[in-house]
Amino acid sequence: MAIKLVEDGPETQSTHQRRRGERRLDFGTAWEYAPAPERPDHVRLRDRYGLFINGRWVSPESGKFFKTINPATEEPIAEIAEGSEADVERAVAAARQAYESVWSKMRPLERGKYVYRIARAIQERARELAVVESMDGGKPIKESRDFDVPTTAAHFFYNAGWADKLSYAFPGRAVRPLGVAGQIIPWNFPLLMAAWKIAPALACGNTVVLKPAETTPLTALLLAEIIREAELPPGVVNIVTGAGATGAALVNHPDVDKIAFTGSTAVGKLIQRALAGTGKRMTMELGGKAANIVFADAPLDQAVEGIINGIFFNQGHVCCAGSRLLVEEGIHDVLVAKLRDRMATLRVGDPLDKNTDIGAINSREQLERIEQLVQVGEDEGAERYTAPCPLPEKGFFFSPTIFTGVAQSHAIAREEIFGPVLSVLTFRTESEAVERANNTFYGLSAGIWSNKGARLFKLATQLEAGVVWANTYNKFDPSSAFGGYKESGFGREGGRHGLLPYLVVE
Ligand code: NAP
Ligand code: MG
Repeated sequence: MAIKLVEDGPETQSTHQRRRGERRLDFGTAWEYAPAPERPDHVRLRDRYGLFINGRWVSPESGKFFKTINPATEEPIAEIAEGSEADVERAVAAARQAYESVWSKMRPLERGKYVYRIARAIQERARELAVVESMDGGKPIKESRDFDVPTTAAHFFYNAGWADKLSYAFPGRAVRPLGVAGQIIPWNFPLLMAAWKIAPALACGNTVVLKPAETTPLTALLLAEIIREAELPPGVVNIVTGAGATGAALVNHPDVDKIAFTGSTAVGKLIQRALAGTGKRMTMELGGKAANIVFADAPLDQAVEGIINGIFFNQGHVCCAGSRLLVEEGIHDVLVAKLRDRMATLRVGDPLDKNTDIGAINSREQLERIEQLVQVGEDEGAERYTAPCPLPEKGFFFSPTIFTGVAQSHAIAREEIFGPVLSVLTFRTESEAVERANNTFYGLSAGIWSNKGARLFKLATQLEAGVVWANTYNKFDPSSAFGGYKESGFGREGGRHGLLPYLVVE
């Protein structure tokens, strides 16, 4: 495990080092770890999953099933029921019945106990859930194990605590549940998004019909098993798998009181149109194109780690990914050089390997979309650097990529790529940084890196983004509200604010 000193520049030597004629450490050999795959042998998956309706596993009315595949191997994992309008009808009826007869009548303290029970069961099955999340969606096991699953449990614990304290959350006001919530979630954080939706809905006394994403249904189905084992009254949580049409059937069902949607802005707009004038409540957590702003006085090495985490975490399949890097002009070359060096050390590959930094892209479709947008970036004249990370032969993988010389008008500076691709722009003054950061249709999140506390606070109020991180990135906590400005959506999830979309407050 020797660290080699190299005289001259292979691909990864940074430009500023080369300019200064410096030798640099080649970490290539030093960081070559032996494979350390997490074993999937403890995972108990069925070959075929039905729909979870009224506390039971039922066959889809159509008799149709589709396969969910492992994006790292392209092998099928299990067959999943395709829910139709008739299935959504059954699920909503079960949820209504459970709402009227049991859940809305139950003492809040008792409701809270069920939610706690789910949280504890998630912890007990944490390892299995993490492995299945990585198999079905492609994210590295270190993320599913250390972020997705613990944060999922934390959301259930947090909301369980509110169940009998809602009158303290909104003092002096009377609160009551809405009824049946229809919830539709994306593929980037399948289990965590299910928790963001289900936990506050249950704590507030609503019942639920959840539609997971087509490519990542498995952990939601394991959650259904957990919910069954926790002996939740039948019909309180129903899980109907399927594609976009299944989601649309849920949106259009007349007996749903509220739709909570997380996904793309395009589908979010379709849903808003469909719901207009129905009187149904809705919350929308949509896309993003976050600016990560680095000032010359920032702790640069810390910022490099934050930028890398901000865009390459979960293959860039993150709505709040720091996909636009705004750098103060004077430090552009130094920062880009540092980023390129760090990118060259990232390990892309088997999601189940504990050493993997960047796992598989979620689907072939998403990989093609990323490739297409990267090609547009090149065609528009931006300079591309793709880290020389070896990629597995099978599966959907994409090497971390950074574009410099990006103009505000370029598609890669405006459109959500939803992959491990960073666009770098520059600014000269604080006000130009804010102007550029806000020059987007989106407004989900932003990052600021500076050692000036006053500047951090000032900019946090000027940035049109639901979350602003200062000298860090991608930090989440169930007690902290999350949600967008502009076309990133409306409504908040998490914290006390996250209870509001599930309550009538009088
Ligand atoms: P998507 O295509 O909009 O899909 C989201 C969900 O909606 C999926 O379950 C999808 O089913 C379903 N769906 C598709 N068409 C529908 C329709 N006409 N009516 C009702 N439901 C429909 O988004 P995605 O590609 O899965 O996820 C990526 C997007 O989610 C990104 O834009 C990302 O920024 C956003 N996101 C936002 C947040 C946030 O908190 N703001 C968090 C995570 C992700 P299928 O899977 O079968 O297509
Ligand atoms: Mg899958």
